[in-house]
Amino acid sequence: MSRYGPQFGPDITFLGVPSCDLDDPASYVDAEVVIVGAPFDGGTSYRAGTRFGPQAIRMTDYLPHDGSRPSLALRTDGLLDLHVVDAGDVEMYSGDIESALPKLEAAVEKLTRAGVIPVVLGGDHSIALPELRALGKAHGPLAVLHFDSHTDTWDTYFAGQRHSAGTAFRRGVEEGWIDARASMQIGMRGSLFSDGDIQQSLDLGYEVVTTDQMLDGGLEALARRVLEKLRGRKVFLSFDLDVVDPAFAPGVQTPEAGGPSAREILRLLRSLRGLDLVGADVVEMNPSYDAGQISALLAATVAAEILALIAARRRDARSG
Ligand code: MN
Ligand code: MN
Repeated sequence: MSRYGPQFGPDITFLGVPSCDLDDPASYVDAEVVIVGAPFDGGTSYRAGTRFGPQAIRMTDYLPHDGSRPSLALRTDGLLDLHVVDAGDVEMYSGDIESALPKLEAAVEKLTRAGVIPVVLGGDHSIALPELRALGKAHGPLAVLHFDSHTDTWDTYFAGQRHSAGTAFRRGVEEGWIDARASMQIGMRGSLFSDGDIQQSLDLGYEVVTTDQMLDGGLEALARRVLEKLRGRKVFLSFDLDVVDPAFAPGVQTPEAGGPSAREILRLLRSLRGLDLVGADVVEMNPSYDAGQISALLAATVAAEILALIAARRRDARSG
């Protein structure tokens, strides 16, 4: 077998699920979700180190590898009610973004062809574009649910660089993979480069919900709005860990003070039962700046909640 495994460190899987091999479709043909690591920080503009994100997320788990992870809020089990396997990492050289991103695109394409849902552990946010390309080819223009303190809709970085952690959600619209009018960006706040930073997302068609709007308007109202807008659509959920306050997630590339707490963001996520997720990622996990695994624990919890959301929807569908 040619399983590549994790790019760095020992071969462990997320929550101890069985491993699979991206080059051997028989190893994931029965799966509903495949975990993939994208150990990449070549799109980083600030604090490098997200290449170690997938490893850090996989390493925070301490519960027995018994194939069960019940969700108290969703009354479902992200592992018992769902067949999940872990493909390890995609080999991505952070020194060459032009060659690294297509490798992730090819990996996600293999999974969508097999009819499974990829859940990608990042990695800086440049990895969203190859995911969008692969998912868009399979499902058509996607409704995107993007949690982030930044819009990531800038045109270029560093003298014309079109691919970076800050440009994927503009490229995705330009290339036709994102239906921006059906998409939401949630959690935006300063630092901004200019007062046009939110406007550039609105101009592309996104609905933007700032951190102040999210917390002042109430999480329940926001959850209702998300479900009303995105239900019935094929949804790509992209979770940038820096949406959360740095007190709850210091280990990120570009922290922004004054965000929602871990509890608040989890409360919101758990209210989104019913979305048709065709792909998801948890990105910008940077263990070099973590403390006591605070950020890694939250990233792993968010990934587990995404599994629970997928499991809950499938269970609801089965029971009519
Ligand atoms: Mn981002
Ligand atoms: Mn961000």
